Amino acid sequence: MTAPVLALHGGAGVLATRSYEAEITHLTTLAKRSRKELLAGKSALDTVVDAVADLEASGLYVAGKGSSPNVDGRYELDAAVMDGLSRQAGAVSALTGFLSPIRAARAVMEQTPHVLLVGRGAEAFCDKAGLMKVENPDRYYTPAADPDPRPFPTGTVGAVALDCAGRLAAATSTGGTLNKVWGRVGDTAIIGSGTWADERVAVSCTGQGEFFMRANAAADVSSRVRYAGHNLAAGVQGALEDVARLGGEGGLIAVDALGEVTARFNSPGMKRAIAHADGAIEVAAG
Ligand code: ASP
Repeated sequence: MTAPVLALHGGAGVLATRSYEAEITHLTTLAKRSRKELLAGKSALDTVVDAVADLEASGLYVAGKGSSPNVDGRYELDAAVMDGLSRQAGAVSALTGFLSPIRAARAVMEQTPHVLLVGRGAEAFCDKAGLMKVENPDRYYTPAADPDPRPFPTGTVGAVALDCAGRLAAATSTGGTLNKVWGRVGDTAIIGSGTWADERVAVSCTGQGEFFMRANAAADVSSRVRYAGHNLAAGVQGALEDVARLGGEGGLIAVDALGEVTARFNSPGMKRAIAHADGAIEVAAG
């Protein structure tokens, strides 16, 4: 039996002027619970989807309930999930009106032959699949974004896990960058850019999505491990340096099939939690 590991993130970027106690408490509880579930035999795929759905519903991060509207006042959300062994993947982008974008992404993966559905097509699919709706967006959403003067202020949630059977999975969900334009698609929903899992690694990114897309950051971690012989930490660092070289800011969480787990960022902080193979839990925001 493999000792399970997992990592969670609640988005890149923190303000020095405010406390993240609620987020830290939430991430700690969720990491402990998710690890317990993995130890009890839950799959990496179920674990990352359930953890991200919990992060979405909490309203504490810029994803799900905590999402901010785009410049037109609409809540357009992105999410993706990938199962490492099967390389099955599902994603939604610019989705409006549904409670859990990550459950919508999973439904795309399991109930269609496609990987990514967007906008009105995604909504029609979610409706048919019977996914839960947001009845009153103005009352449901409680934007969690901090006022942030930098370009492309960010916020996202993600989870990566290795389960007892040695399987890897990654899931990411976001309200996107603040003030994004109508129809904008970020890295979160793009398999390989913001979300990736295969037989070697599982990766979830957060930050200025356009740069993560141009670096194909999440899949780049796997390429570095596979072709350059990097260990997980070096692969993640290399991918992050490529994002930074392009001028981008953000972070990545990753696990590998050997039970390594890491979180790196070049943003001012990243809300995150890691559950190591020996049961140690690390949680931090800055
Ligand atoms: N990467 C996300 C996006 O560009 C935002 C974030 O991670 O904060 O949509």
